Amino acid sequence: MPVNSPSKYVYNFTEGGRELVDLLGGKGANLAEMTRLDLPVPAGFTITTEACRAHLAGGEPPAGLFDEVNDHLRELEARMGRVLGDPRNPLLLSVRSGARYSMPGMMETILDVGLTDASVAGLAALTGDEHFAWDSYRRLIQMFGRTVCGVPAAEFDRELDAARTAAGVATDSELSPADLRHLVETYKKVFHAHTGRDFPQAPHEQLYLAIRAVFDSWNSPRARLYRRQEQIPDDLGTAVNVMSMVFGNLGAGSGTGVAFTRDPATGARGVYGDYLADAQGEDVVAGIRNTVALQELERLDPTSFDQLMSIMDRLEHHYRDLCDIEFTIERGKLWMLQTRVGKRTAAAAFVIANQLVDEGIIDLDEALRRVTGDQLAQLMFPTIDPAAAGEPVATGVAAAPGAAAGRVVFDSAAAAAAGGPVILVRRETNPDDLPGMIAATGILTSRGGKTSHAAVVARGMGKTCVCGVEDLVIAPDGQHATLAGVELRAGDPISIDGTTGRVYRGTAPVHPSPVASYLDGDPTSQRDPVVAAVHRLLGHADATRRLAVHANADTPADATRARRLGAAGIGLCRTEHMFLGDRRELVERLIVAETDAEREAALAALLPLQRADFVGILAAMDGLPVTIRLLDPPLHEFLPALEELTARVVRAEALGRDPGRDALLLRVVRRLHEANPMLGLRGVRLGLVLPGLLAMQTRAIAEATAERIRAGGDPRPEIMVPLVGAVQELDAARAEVAVALAEVDGLPPIPIGTMIEVPRAALTAGEVAGAADFFSFGTNDLTQLGWGFSRDDVEAAFFPRYLELGIFARSPFETLDTSGVGRLIRLAIDEGRTARPGLRIGVCGEHAGDPESVGWFHGAGVDYVSCSPYRLPVARLAAGHAAVVTTDDPSAASR
Ligand code: ADP
Ligand code: MG
Ligand code: MG
Repeated sequence: MPVNSPSKYVYNFTEGGRELVDLLGGKGANLAEMTRLDLPVPAGFTITTEACRAHLAGGEPPAGLFDEVNDHLRELEARMGRVLGDPRNPLLLSVRSGARYSMPGMMETILDVGLTDASVAGLAALTGDEHFAWDSYRRLIQMFGRTVCGVPAAEFDRELDAARTAAGVATDSELSPADLRHLVETYKKVFHAHTGRDFPQAPHEQLYLAIRAVFDSWNSPRARLYRRQEQIPDDLGTAVNVMSMVFGNLGAGSGTGVAFTRDPATGARGVYGDYLADAQGEDVVAGIRNTVALQELERLDPTSFDQLMSIMDRLEHHYRDLCDIEFTIERGKLWMLQTRVGKRTAAAAFVIANQLVDEGIIDLDEALRRVTGDQLAQLMFPTIDPAAAGEPVATGVAAAPGAAAGRVVFDSAAAAAAGGPVILVRRETNPDDLPGMIAATGILTSRGGKTSHAAVVARGMGKTCVCGVEDLVIAPDGQHATLAGVELRAGDPISIDGTTGRVYRGTAPVHPSPVASYLDGDPTSQRDPVVAAVHRLLGHADATRRLAVHANADTPADATRARRLGAAGIGLCRTEHMFLGDRRELVERLIVAETDAEREAALAALLPLQRADFVGILAAMDGLPVTIRLLDPPLHEFLPALEELTARVVRAEALGRDPGRDALLLRVVRRLHEANPMLGLRGVRLGLVLPGLLAMQTRAIAEATAERIRAGGDPRPEIMVPLVGAVQELDAARAEVAVALAEVDGLPPIPIGTMIEVPRAALTAGEVAGAADFFSFGTNDLTQLGWGFSRDDVEAAFFPRYLELGIFARSPFETLDTSGVGRLIRLAIDEGRTARPGLRIGVCGEHAGDPESVGWFHGAGVDYVSCSPYRLPVARLAAGHAAVVTTDDPSAASR
């Protein structure tokens, strides 16, 4: 059948490769890739994501799918010399989900498909292990019952417990074949009771039902929640991998494990992993039994160990990156069951990218593609200072770095309900704990290693996690625990360090991150390997990026800090903060002035203060542009609140006293009171309505500039007019500004530009550009006004519900809404630059510090972004990253 025929839904592992990841999902594409590399992969085939999408759309598998599956199955049977369901020589299958993006533990996998009353004996004969055969059968009924037919897992668990108790043994593996055979009968009854039918004895029916169940698991609530968290689109669907089973539970010479080619937590070189002898499939990942370190395998089975090491080396060179691997050893024969480019912490991402450059495996551009601004942001989190924290009470596996202190909660519901920071304390986590993990600041488990559910999910979320703390003993009810022998109660304060694995009682002191110290100018932190990697990659980002990065800074101190953090100027200097504090009184006088003389006196008092502010900022940013925005907020922000004033006046009147100035103020406040201040008298409107304000601010800028020049400086102020909606507003403001500038001699050219933050300004950008020397997108207001959202009100009021409904995946105030607000921006850039070629364009909303948005601004042709000082390194890195990432590769841009 031709490869691109629309009816081709099934690919043999020998047909595909990693380039088909969209169609085969990550797991399927990489199984094919390993097959292509001649690695020992059990034979099998992949049903495409396209088939899944067709199934989800139509509610039924697409026509012809199962015929195609049968064709591939026959081929597989021929190849293996076994037949599905054959009573003497049965082929068993695993049916595994695998989407485009890894969603660990979110969807279903069913092992041992094909076991029936008839073939279980064949399996026993084939392997010479009756215990194993019956154990596999009871696992199938359990997994199939739960996944395909929705039988509650607890029903099976209860019977398993009962079987252990009846046999007087502690673990499943001690059950005799007769016990297991009996358990299978019991499980079948449970199955019947719940589904009203017998456990299917037709192996093909088992297979078809399992495939459908994997398709359907794409839309399970926990998978949907995970996708929303991880920003994975809902319409991709999952592929299904059908492959012949290999058995790690055939005694001590068999086993199963997971491995990483480098430490996914720190990036350190060397092989990391967990191994569990005599175990199958999910036993390792689930953290149900405590595993041994992979190095132990060298002692247990040196031949397989050596083979594994050489395969891992091969994979790392092939993928040119950290790989993670699932493998199984069946009686001394090594099988590769999965590989992928492994998830890693932010620290490991930087360290590994840097190492791979040193090793000559990738170049610096590629290294920069492998890190994101979000990861750099994570590295700027504080950690627990071991010197100050005292003795840890216990140590576990350092599963996800960072530091967290909070109160103990023992379950997801309590975590979600708690105020304040909490640490979720569990034996192990499973996908049902997801809401609690989202709510908690840190996660602590007594079981499992770096590859447990808790560890993988926490790393993905950027949350601190310590796993496998043996000194933490959690009672069977999950609501009580002891830590190092001492009771641990819900509500107790506890601290965890996910970088070292240490656990402290009480609230430990936290320490700033070395990356943050380095970025803030502390040279001693350079010895740290993470800092060294950040230094190199950020340096490369600076050398590569096209976007300039400016800071939003309002004071000389902020300006100085911004320069240290790499700002090439100030993109937004807000003047309203300069009107607060002691000076509020002067502004009040300006607002309530009833005569020209009063108003001029108030302005005259403000002028030298403003001038002094600008002198300081221009000095701190000497030689670099400082974009000063004229006064923006509504005036009532500078006056006492209406309620408070009313109360004061009423009280004075009731006591028969003269309310004095309060009465005047109250009149003014009433007059200025706005039902919708956000849409009211603010921005340029204010300057046009309040006589003398624009002139005073301009004069302060001009005189400060002149003063800096006299002092031998190189001041480069720019004047920015806020909230313009029509070019006529800008023309009027410009005229007044120009008059004030002309009154001061010897000034350099001072550009006068405008913010684009009212949708109408964006829509008429061609006209506005005629009067503007530059544009700066105020994306906060543009988002507010574009959506009609009052940010301060709506975010808390209903954004959680909107996120839940999937109306947007992230708040449009955090990450630019590219399809709506972004469209306004594109249009304004186009029309602005058509009217005025070379028009300089910046962005000064909070989106300027959001890596994903920065990437978009790069693509949209913006010249610079301007963000808060502490986000500067993140924006610099994101701008460099955007410059080396091709925009048609979304996986590289955001994951
Ligand atoms: P997940 O994506 O949740 O890791 P997998 O599809 O990888 O789910 O399967 C779950 C477990 O079953 C893994 O530990 C895997 O190694 C094991 N497994 C899958 N297929 C086979 C197989 N053919 N033989 C033996 N074990 C298998
Ligand atoms: Mg897996
Ligand atoms: Mg604004």
